[in-house]
Amino acid sequence: MSNAALSVITSDPPEKWQEILADLITDPKELTEILQLDSGAESRLAHFGLNRFSLKVPRPFAQRMRPGNWNDPLLRQVWPSQLEDEVDCSLSEDPLQERTFNQATGLLQKYRGRVLLTAAPHCAVHCRYCFRRHFDYAANTPGKRQWQETLEQIDGDSSISEVILSGGDPLAAGDSYLKWLLTQIDTLKQVTTIRIHTRLPVVIPQRITSSLCQTLASLECKLVIVIHCNHGQEIDSSVQLAVQKLRATGATLMNQSVLLKGINDDATSLVSLSHQLFDINVLPYYLHLPDRVAGTGHYLVNEQEGLDLITKIRALLPGYLVPRLVREDPGSDSKTRLG
Ligand SMILES: *Cc1c(COP(=O)(O)O)cnc(C)c1O
Ligand code: SF4
Repeated sequence: MSNAALSVITSDPPEKWQEILADLITDPKELTEILQLDSGAESRLAHFGLNRFSLKVPRPFAQRMRPGNWNDPLLRQVWPSQLEDEVDCSLSEDPLQERTFNQATGLLQKYRGRVLLTAAPHCAVHCRYCFRRHFDYAANTPGKRQWQETLEQIDGDSSISEVILSGGDPLAAGDSYLKWLLTQIDTLKQVTTIRIHTRLPVVIPQRITSSLCQTLASLECKLVIVIHCNHGQEIDSSVQLAVQKLRATGATLMNQSVLLKGINDDATSLVSLSHQLFDINVLPYYLHLPDRVAGTGHYLVNEQEGLDLITKIRALLPGYLVPRLVREDPGSDSKTRLG
């Protein structure tokens, strides 16, 4: 690596991510002002939905939205639409029945060999389609003592070789806490892989600090980082830099998306997303059909539409750039692959 490339990776951006995280856009009015969306904002706004799941938009993410466009694919992911308030009895607050799988505080195991830890109680962004929008993080955020019990439980189960940090968003937590938790996991003998699922490299790329990267690079376990990006417009040079820093830690990088109506449910958007991810050295992993979560009916794409899209993009992309279309069925021993 050239000295110039190395210095990019070891230096931090001037703005501190903690300050960005402390200064999120939380007022819909402010968001509409920034985006010059004056007309009809009030009638487009959820009331009940907003009470239950607040607005949270990091400013670096809002900067990538196109002004004056209610249909902007980034805005649509975060705007609390009045459609959230429509009651639909076929939708559930806990469609994946995670409450039943929640065995120890902070731990979810659904699949053999790998466990998921809800490592942080919050996210940097509130994605309106989120399947965990009704999850009780407060009851599932262990302190150090409880983490120790959860880690002992993992240690006592020799079938577990991979620990997945999810959330909330694990990278919304601070460096010293993450260092502690990751180091604890790294010392579990039978755990060979640590995986981090995060949206922070996309929504606040400044989060990827050199101190975080040092911690990640010091782990003995293999490291997999799955970023969550739904649309090519989310990727700019700051995201590219964050990803470059993560790669320099030795991590394998992949992306997961949710197939969302009016956002990325067309072949052009999906093909462009795969190309843009590949440009920053990230391979597509999963494309999730949205879960049937209360308040998210307006994002739902059905299975046949998903299958048709995959057929279309398969004809336009090399195989390694076609994400795996999956659905999650409670009680199943893996995610359900479609097509
Ligand atoms: C999705 C998920 C995983 C990871 O599954 P992979 O198919 O390995 O990506 C693990 N645990 C839980 C609870 C999950 O929801
Ligand atoms: S970052 Fe992930 S967990 Fe957090 S709100 Fe968005 S989809 Fe949900």
